[in-house]
Amino acid sequence: MRIIDLIAARSEPFLSLEFFPPKQESSWPDFFAVAERLRAIDPLFVSVTYGAGGSTQKNTLDIVTRLRSGCGFTPMAHLTCVGADATAIDAFLASLETAGVDNVLALRGDPPAGQDAFVPENASFAHASDLVRFVRERHPRLGVGVAAYPEKHPQSPSPEDDLNHLKFKLGQGGDFAITQLFFDNALYFAFVAKARAAGIDVPIVPGILPVASLAGLRRILGFCGASVPAAYLAALEEADKQGPEAVRALGVAHATAQARDLLANGAPGVHLYTLNKASSCLEIVKGL
Ligand SMILES: Cc1cc2nc3c(=O)[nH]c(=O)nc-3n(C[C@H](O)[C@H](O)[C@H](O)COP(=O)(O)OP(=O)(O)OC[C@H]3O[C@@H](n4cnc5c(N)ncnc54)[C@H](O)[C@@H]3O)c2cc1C
Repeated sequence: MRIIDLIAARSEPFLSLEFFPPKQESSWPDFFAVAERLRAIDPLFVSVTYGAGGSTQKNTLDIVTRLRSGCGFTPMAHLTCVGADATAIDAFLASLETAGVDNVLALRGDPPAGQDAFVPENASFAHASDLVRFVRERHPRLGVGVAAYPEKHPQSPSPEDDLNHLKFKLGQGGDFAITQLFFDNALYFAFVAKARAAGIDVPIVPGILPVASLAGLRRILGFCGASVPAAYLAALEEADKQGPEAVRALGVAHATAQARDLLANGAPGVHLYTLNKASSCLEIVKGL
């Protein structure tokens, strides 16, 4: 079922989960054990990244297929413009449909490591909006999500410019948006208000990261452009002196408080960046 229809049919806020495909097939049993544990959360949907860290489209396809048939989740496959070719994308989308996977998250993708700018390999797929249009034209049955940036995309010259591009890609046929991670809910609420004022009326699902380690956080911040409130960063640095478990516990507490406030104040649901770990997500749900 398309995620937008699931959201529309829902009277209560939801949780959804994001996984990344383990590169080595030897890690898959552990990965699916984590996914099994997370069934307790009853997520509205689960999404599986593509490309980041060098994972292949086949990995994403195999994993979403198994998350659907083995775990009973509603999965969404991420798809990017990196190395995009119409024939290959068409075949990938057809395989998703054959596997009963009804949703894709259409993304541009990040520049490869060591490159500042994204240089499209194929002029037909230069922006996420090109993918959205392609999916809509060739596979109209599929649900399509897109990415949104409460603190603007790092390469965007201004928040207004970025919002215009978000509006354009949604206009090409995007059903809903999932945000980049953020640590201050005021950023999300201000962004949603601006989007509504600009005429964007689709669900904007906030993406929340339970920080698992300080080193991991610094790595993620290096490419996603999100900011960390000074007080939260100082608390994480203090916790780090006590050891990794203290950082993780603080990350769970902060994410729980964020999720509670978001759900109480009108967010349609919360998308958890799981980092393929079950415990933090389960603790957040218990805390809610
Ligand atoms: C929820 C989420 C999931 C993600 N999953 C993955 C993943 O699985 N794999 C992965 O590699 N990356 C992933 N990313 C990262 C994403 O690929 C990067 O943030 C990428 O740099 C931008 O992707 P986009 O789809 O937002 O691109 P776009 O919407 O194309 O925007 C990219 C930049 O171009 C600008 N822009 C858009 N259209 C135009 C235009 N017509 N003319 C000029 N400028 C334009 C935008 O304002 C923005 O600055 C994810 C991000 C999010 C938020």
